[in-house]
Amino acid sequence: MLRTHWDEVRARVRATEDRALCEPWLDCLRFVDGSGSSLVLAAPNRLYVEWILDNLDAVLVRHLREVLGRDCTIRYELDPSIEPTAASVADEPVLDSADAESSRLNPRQTFDTFVVGHSNQFAFAACRNVATQPARNYNPLFLFSGVGLGKTHLLQAIGNRIRELFPSQRVLYMSAEDFTNELIAAIGRRRTEDFRKKFRESCDVLLVDDIQVLATRERTQEEFVHTFNALHQAGKQIVVTGDRYPREIEGLEDRLRSRFDWGLIADIQPPDVETKVAILCRCAHAEQRTLPQDVAFFLARHCQGNVRELEGVLCRVLAMSGFHGAPLTVDFARSCLMPLLPSAPPVHEVDRIVDVVARHYRVKTADLMGNRRQKHVVEPRQLAMYFARQHTALSYPELGRRFDRDHTTVLYAVDRVSQRRQADPGYELEIQRIDKVIRDHRSS
Ligand code: ADP
Ligand code: MG
Repeated sequence: MLRTHWDEVRARVRATEDRALCEPWLDCLRFVDGSGSSLVLAAPNRLYVEWILDNLDAVLVRHLREVLGRDCTIRYELDPSIEPTAASVADEPVLDSADAESSRLNPRQTFDTFVVGHSNQFAFAACRNVATQPARNYNPLFLFSGVGLGKTHLLQAIGNRIRELFPSQRVLYMSAEDFTNELIAAIGRRRTEDFRKKFRESCDVLLVDDIQVLATRERTQEEFVHTFNALHQAGKQIVVTGDRYPREIEGLEDRLRSRFDWGLIADIQPPDVETKVAILCRCAHAEQRTLPQDVAFFLARHCQGNVRELEGVLCRVLAMSGFHGAPLTVDFARSCLMPLLPSAPPVHEVDRIVDVVARHYRVKTADLMGNRRQKHVVEPRQLAMYFARQHTALSYPELGRRFDRDHTTVLYAVDRVSQRRQADPGYELEIQRIDKVIRDHRSS
């Protein structure tokens, strides 16, 4: 692989992808080496690498495959001598005006539209307390739950209520992803001091959603800890959400995790059937429709997932009944749900790969996907990640989620296997054998 291949990939990305988004990042990637089985590029700092892995890596790999006519991975190195150029990344600075602040709050997500049941009453009460007495009792407040169970809704509700009760309080709602992107942009513009100042001087209530995305983003975490400390010391309310208990978020630094022990940690559990029914009826009501009780119970029992899915199912049933002019009965609801009810779950490509590798090494699939660190499971696990990377179009972050690990772990595994393939001819042969089994499996 040559520098000219990389130049071609770059040109193709520029021509076919969203230019405004890609350009600043492409400009600061340098070709380092293309002699092994992966292309090595250099980026100015860790934040760039993280952003690129999350947003651009899959695109680059796809174009690279088209240019080379074969699969190839990309490894990123740091080269501080490269000038960061993300200055032109489209982002409007958040804190410049009160309008921008309030635009991040969704007026429909309030305490009034939140249905309270066993599963969420503690979190609800904590949020209400914070909204009526900011920075008094629970500071920080940390909310956690699985996806689609109402964290963002409650966080928004706090923001909306505080704005109502205390119009002079400057409320800032942002996702941890926004925080990262704005920090990167500020670094690119060499304006980190402004970034800090704005948070510290123009925000009275900070609401940060989905903190788990900061796992392994060291520089962003560092910045967040500073912001957190400054605001907390100044007596400002902070509320943070995450997808699990803070101490269980791998890759979150201890000094950040321990901050959450200073206040209150509240969880939201999946709703019970009664709460689901209440949520369904309230949603239907918002659409000016009435949902018969028996239909509501039918939907609540058959939708195993979270509240977001429940809303999706209801939306489908309402739309179809409107479309067909059919009355809302249990039978009608069942016919709408038919295509969604579980049949045989499709075996995913990744599962198949894991299966082949596990069988080859005579380890249990559960061990391979689990946390054991013995060599005899770690090596097959890395290999499964390697093959999954080669055989699917999944990005590192996506693979990370599949394997329930951080994307850097997958990155590391892929690198290791690539290197060992080159260094060890016996290993290379073995890889080729397994590779063949995976390919045969796929075509059969
Ligand atoms: P999370 O942030 O935990 O992933 P969201 O807050 O985005 O979940 O909730 C998903 C959807 O479900 C949103 O539309 C939200 O308004 C709705 N929702 C969740 N819990 C409730 C509830 N208890 N009452 C009413 N709506 C809810
Ligand atoms: Mg959310």
